[in-house]
Amino acid sequence: MKTSEIRSAFLEFFRSKGHTIVPSSSLVPSNDPTLLFTNSGMVQFKNVFLGSEKLGYVRAADVQRCLRAGGKHNDLDSVGYTARHHTFFEMLGNWSFGDYFKREAIAWAWEFLTGTLKLHKDRLWVTVYHTDDEAFDIWNKDIGVPAARIVRIGDNKGAPYASDNFWQMADTGPCGPCTEIFYDHGPGIPGGPPGSPDEDGDRYIEIWNLVFMQFDRAADGTLSKLPAPCVDTGMGLERLAAVLQHVHSNYEIDLFQHLIKVAAKLTNTADLENKSLRVIADHIRACSFLIVDGVLPSNEGRGYVLRRIIRRALRHGYMLQQGGLGQKQPFFHAMVGALVEVMGDAYPELLAKREFVERALKAEEERFGETLEQGMKVFEDVAKKSGNAIPGDAAFRLYDTYGFPVDLTADIARERGLTVDMAGFELAMEQQRERARSASQFEGRASLPAELASTLAPTKFLGYETLAADGCKVLA
Ligand code: ATP
Ligand code: MG
Ligand code: MG
Ligand code: MG
Repeated sequence: MKTSEIRSAFLEFFRSKGHTIVPSSSLVPSNDPTLLFTNSGMVQFKNVFLGSEKLGYVRAADVQRCLRAGGKHNDLDSVGYTARHHTFFEMLGNWSFGDYFKREAIAWAWEFLTGTLKLHKDRLWVTVYHTDDEAFDIWNKDIGVPAARIVRIGDNKGAPYASDNFWQMADTGPCGPCTEIFYDHGPGIPGGPPGSPDEDGDRYIEIWNLVFMQFDRAADGTLSKLPAPCVDTGMGLERLAAVLQHVHSNYEIDLFQHLIKVAAKLTNTADLENKSLRVIADHIRACSFLIVDGVLPSNEGRGYVLRRIIRRALRHGYMLQQGGLGQKQPFFHAMVGALVEVMGDAYPELLAKREFVERALKAEEERFGETLEQGMKVFEDVAKKSGNAIPGDAAFRLYDTYGFPVDLTADIARERGLTVDMAGFELAMEQQRERARSASQFEGRASLPAELASTLAPTKFLGYETLAADGCKVLA
C-alpha cells in the first residue's frame, strides 16, 4: 500500500464511523504562543479539550503535519540514528470531544489495523497506563489480546525514549493516560518489547497512541479535570507505511526512497544506505513545510530552528560531496521538486509555494556555503588538538565566525565520538553578550561624524537569547 493510499484508507475508515474530516493545521500553532511547533494532531483542538472552544461536531479525524525539533518533543538528534524518528512527520488522528471514550477508541483502532489493513494480530503488542484496569480489560477481554502482550507502564521520569503512558502536549495543557500499540518487526532486529530494559531498540516500534484526555496540567504541575473526557489518537503515517510495505525502517518506504534517490543523484552518492541521505531526506520535508507555513531562516525563535535544520542538511550534503568525486554544488533547494512529486497531491499549499520555498532555501544555501567549508577546516583542526571534548571557545568561534549553530557542532562531534563543552560555550556566549552591552553603552555616548556614520552599516547582534533558550536545549 502506498503512503498516499494509507492516508485515504485512514480517513475513509473514520468517516464511516461518523467522524468529520478536517484539514491539517499549520506547523505554526495559531492558538498557542507557548508552543514552538505543532507536535501532534491534538494541537489545533487544544481549546476544544479545555472547553473554551466549541466545534460543530464531536468526532473528527485528520492527517496532521507535525514537527518535533524543539520544545518538549524534540527528535532532531535521533534523525539518522533510529529507524523511526523524523523531525517532520504526518500523524493520522481521530478525536472524540466528550463523545465516545476508551471502548470505542480501542475497538476502532484494532478494527482498522487488523480488519482494514490486515496486520497480523500476533505481531501487535499493547501498553496501558499502570493503573488503568479498564483499558487492560478492554484489550484483554473484549478484543482478546493475550495478557502476556499487554504491558502496564507508568510515568516516564526522564529517559528520553522510555515508554511513557501518560501523554502531554507540553509542560502545561491537556493530558491524560494513554494506551499504545506496538508492531513487532521480528527477531533479528535488536530491541525488546515495550517496558523491557532494551525497549529503545527498533524491533518493537510504537505505531499508535490512544490518549484518554482527562486533565489540564497547570504550570505548578497540578492536574484539574477537563469539562468532559475526550479521546485523542495519533499514529505515525511513515511507521505504519513501513509495516504495510514490509520494510523495517521508515526511510525505506516509497516516499522516502524517492527523496533519497534524488538526494543521492544531486550529491553524487552511490550508496543509498548512507545515513546522510536519510538526514537530508528528513530535513527537506521539515524545512520546506516550515517555509510553506510562513517561517523563514533567522537568528531567533522558530526561524532559528529552521536555520539550524537547513545547516545540518547542508553539512551532510557537503560531507557526501566531499567524499565523492563530483563537484561541490548547491543541492538542497533542488530537492523541493522531488518533494512536490511525492507530497504535492496531499498538500496543495506545497505545490503553490514551490518557487518561494526554493528561493528561500537557495539563499540560505548560498549564505552558509560561504563559511561552511572554512568552518569545517577549523573544526577538523580543533578536533585534532582536543581530547574528548571540543572546547567551548572553539564551538563559540564556529558559531560566531562561521555560522555553525552549536547543535551542528555537537552533531559533527558526535559522529567522531566527541562532545562539546557546553558550559564553556555558554560562558563564551555570555562574555560576548557583555561585550555587546558595553559596546552599545559606548555607542550611546560617542558620536561619529555624519558622513562616516552613514557609510557604516549598523551591526546588529542577534540570536544569543534564542540560542540559549532553544539551541542548547536540543542537547540537554
Ligand atoms: P517514540 O516513543 O517512538 O519516540 P512517542 O511516544 O514520542 O514515539 P507520541 O507522542 O505518542 O510518540 O506520538 C504518536 C505517534 O506519532 C507515535 O506512536 C508514532 O507513531 C508517531 N511519532 C512520534 N514521534 C515521531 C517521529 N519523531 N517521527 C515519526 N513518527 C513519530
Ligand atoms: Mg518520542
Ligand atoms: Mg513512545
Ligand atoms: Mg507515544
